[in-house]
Amino acid sequence: MAMEAATLLPSRGEFVIHGAYAVTMEPSVGDIERSVIHVRDGEIISVGPAVEARKAGDIDGSGFIAVPGFIDTHWHLWSCALRGIHSYIDPDFGYFPLTMRLGPLYTPLDSYRNVRLGVAEALLSGITTINNWAHNVLSPDHADAEVQALSDTGIRGRFSYGWGQNLAVDTPMNSADVKRIKNERFSSNDLLSLGVAIRTPVAYQRGNVSLDILRSDWTKAQELGLPLTIHNRAGVVSILEEQHLLDSNVLIVHPQAFTSREIEILAQRQVNISSSPVNENARGPNGARGPIQLSELLQAGVGFSISVDEVVTNGKADFFSVMRELVRSDWQRRGEHTKLTARRMLELSTIDGARAMGLAHLVGSLKPGKRADITLIRSTDINLSPIIGDPSDMLVFSGQPNNVDTVIVDGRVLVRDGRLTSLDPEQVVSDAMQTVRDLRGRDPRQS
Ligand SMILES: [Zn+2]
Repeated sequence: MAMEAATLLPSRGEFVIHGAYAVTMEPSVGDIERSVIHVRDGEIISVGPAVEARKAGDIDGSGFIAVPGFIDTHWHLWSCALRGIHSYIDPDFGYFPLTMRLGPLYTPLDSYRNVRLGVAEALLSGITTINNWAHNVLSPDHADAEVQALSDTGIRGRFSYGWGQNLAVDTPMNSADVKRIKNERFSSNDLLSLGVAIRTPVAYQRGNVSLDILRSDWTKAQELGLPLTIHNRAGVVSILEEQHLLDSNVLIVHPQAFTSREIEILAQRQVNISSSPVNENARGPNGARGPIQLSELLQAGVGFSISVDEVVTNGKADFFSVMRELVRSDWQRRGEHTKLTARRMLELSTIDGARAMGLAHLVGSLKPGKRADITLIRSTDINLSPIIGDPSDMLVFSGQPNNVDTVIVDGRVLVRDGRLTSLDPEQVVSDAMQTVRDLRGRDPRQS
């Protein structure tokens, strides 16, 4: 398939980050005020206190906070560019009308350009892993295009192969192509893995599915050993439990409207959760699904992670805003400022996200033997000053993407000095513009 020329990713090499305040997210190590992080061939070789002076060639980390890269566990990257024509006022151009009407009109090139736009923004926000929740896979070429875009950016992630926005409720997804792409594109790919996104078996815009079809889509994914993800609506967990489909390979999105019995089931089956707080808090009366059940789920020991979901209505992939949103909604709900701490929030964004994705052995904390997914945040910026001691509160409550200086994925420096090193932002933007113009040209509602 003809796509833009593949990006040349930077090589991994060997380097030392010297002097950064390291928030390792490793309980046995804790924070290291002036750290040395040694990386070789994409692996963290050592993390420890800086006892010697910085050597020539080291990355100067003084004035920076080093955190494990943020982990997003649910994002419909295919829709990113639609924010250019989204409207909060005209109901024909709201999120669901737009994605349902224009989704079926996507070419593989549109898919490619949307995914690349989203990943570029993610990297600039310090995100190093994305679960690309691909629910507009219209054909094998569309699947290939999304995987190619992920691969060209150097991001770590999962391609959660879904359906096309125009797929009928009683039609199965293309499980044969899931098998095809698994063999063709994922056998030796160390940064990207494959999963399956399943339609919801209750009313859910056009993403719903009959129970028979759900069961067959689901078991075919299980036969391939792939992790599964599904959007929650009231009653979904009970339905899946009745069908004996829940296990630790399942990630359920939108932790709202669970019954207490369902929360027990989630804990028993070791199901993981992804919360997209910006969207979950923004839904009006038509989409109201109740508060985010963070405290109940954490108390029950259910794995919890966070996500951007989409940037059409959220507007941006600012992971700091996503963190704040969850903290604030938790505080509002529970009436105290002492429940969900900034430190716990950072865990949900890193190590807990890694666990939810089955990647905790590789990423989510700064530890020798793990892969080097590291974000350096400038602590000397005006909006983060002055930081004295533990930077957790400042990161969560004051952080913003333009404080992100350096982003390393698997030992490759993909952002440096706040700029993308391999993606060309002008091209990413002009291609996104072109894609939206093309889609608008095909849109029957566009005057
Ligand atoms: Zn979603």
